[in-house]
Amino acid sequence: MFKKILIANRGEIALRIQRACKEMGIQAVVVYSEADRDAKYVRLADEAVCIGPAPSAQSYLNMPAIIATAEVTDAEAIHPGYGFLSENANFAERVEQSGFTFIGPTPASIRLMGDKVSAKQAMIASGVPCVPGSEGALPDDPKEITKTARDIGYPVIIKAAGGGGGRGMRVVHTEAALLHAVQTTKAEAGAAFGNPEVYMEKFLENPRHVEIQIMADQHGNAIWLGERDCSMQRRHQKVIEEAPAPGIPRKTIEKIGQRCADACKKIGYRGAGTFEFLYENGEFYFIEMNTRVQVEHPVTELVTGIDIVQAQIRVAAGEKLAFTQKDIGVRGHAIECRINAEDPYNFLPSPGRITLWHAPGGPGVRVDSHAYTNYYVPPNYDSMIGKLIVHGDTREQALARMRTALSEMVVEGINTNIALHRDLMIDAGFGKGGTSIHYLEHWLADRR
Ligand code: ADP
Repeated sequence: MFKKILIANRGEIALRIQRACKEMGIQAVVVYSEADRDAKYVRLADEAVCIGPAPSAQSYLNMPAIIATAEVTDAEAIHPGYGFLSENANFAERVEQSGFTFIGPTPASIRLMGDKVSAKQAMIASGVPCVPGSEGALPDDPKEITKTARDIGYPVIIKAAGGGGGRGMRVVHTEAALLHAVQTTKAEAGAAFGNPEVYMEKFLENPRHVEIQIMADQHGNAIWLGERDCSMQRRHQKVIEEAPAPGIPRKTIEKIGQRCADACKKIGYRGAGTFEFLYENGEFYFIEMNTRVQVEHPVTELVTGIDIVQAQIRVAAGEKLAFTQKDIGVRGHAIECRINAEDPYNFLPSPGRITLWHAPGGPGVRVDSHAYTNYYVPPNYDSMIGKLIVHGDTREQALARMRTALSEMVVEGINTNIALHRDLMIDAGFGKGGTSIHYLEHWLADRR
């Protein structure tokens, strides 16, 4: 096992990884930007090194600074968390070329899955069902583009091959709007992701977002750890996640879960990963794979009892998976609310000083957050300041626990979306379960 790991991230996930290290008796080195100097996990770390000023490009995306820190601190491995460099194949490559272990898949796997066009092609070859769409990137010829859209049938969605974070997508309802939408998305994709390639998919009108967590080792073992329903979204960004997905027959889930595990074996995948699907009319359609730990991993941890971050570290150190598919069961129900520093209804970011932070507790309640009273939320990064996760024997119990936890939680000094979560936890539609990816946006529009 590693003696020392460098954590190349910030915020709650930096703290989450550090907790895993401590439990495993591994020393943790954190890197931080000037804006994160006072963060809790920086103070709690065995070693902490400032790698640059607040802007991510000069700190959390600064590959030479991160690798140099690993060198001077004698760290053996680098955990990239999520976001920032976690899905950057060049970073993974440079880490390994410098003699460190990258806690994640091989650069080749990251590259294959990072391009959504090649990812879909690999999935089709592995027998994973995909959303019907263009075969590969769209050509330049307008006639061919129009024909592709006609074959698929409107509405269609134009998506950037290099897209991520809910950006680089455009829905097209009519042929008249098609070519302009393709051009605009291409231009945006080139500017935002450095890759102008776009592809086309059928736009599913009322799907749910259901994803499969997988874990694979370097010895050819791959298993799936159940599913998560992440349909509560705003602007293609997840707000609430839960496991298991309400109302989907276990047989259907098992079939797709096994396909994902098999695909991992086929492509030689290692580490944690997530296959994201849209689910409509009883069918799963692959949309993309994330080659890293996800924000919503705790709901899976609570229902399976597997520590995903520790498993990532063990697999990276060359250990065999400590569990087989038969060992994996789903016990009870878990729900996660992402706590964001933003206005609960107009979603304007709300950085600043937290004058009072009171976290809830009690049976089945978990809070993953680096925030505390007097913590200053810097304006430079993502607005998520923590996650409130609950577990219950049933979905009803989990919902009741989340309602209680949200009622106990106090954050003063900045705006947060806690009020929105309180409303959603008593909403009849969410309470019933199985809402589509458009539910939250419609719900928000109805309240205006
Ligand atoms: P990103 O990498 O930016 O997260 P995804 O491909 O995972 O992009 O899509 C994000 C979200 O966009 C999905 O969860 C879903 O809400 C919506 N979406 C993507 N593709 C489609 C599609 N073909 N039909 C309907 N909605 C889609």
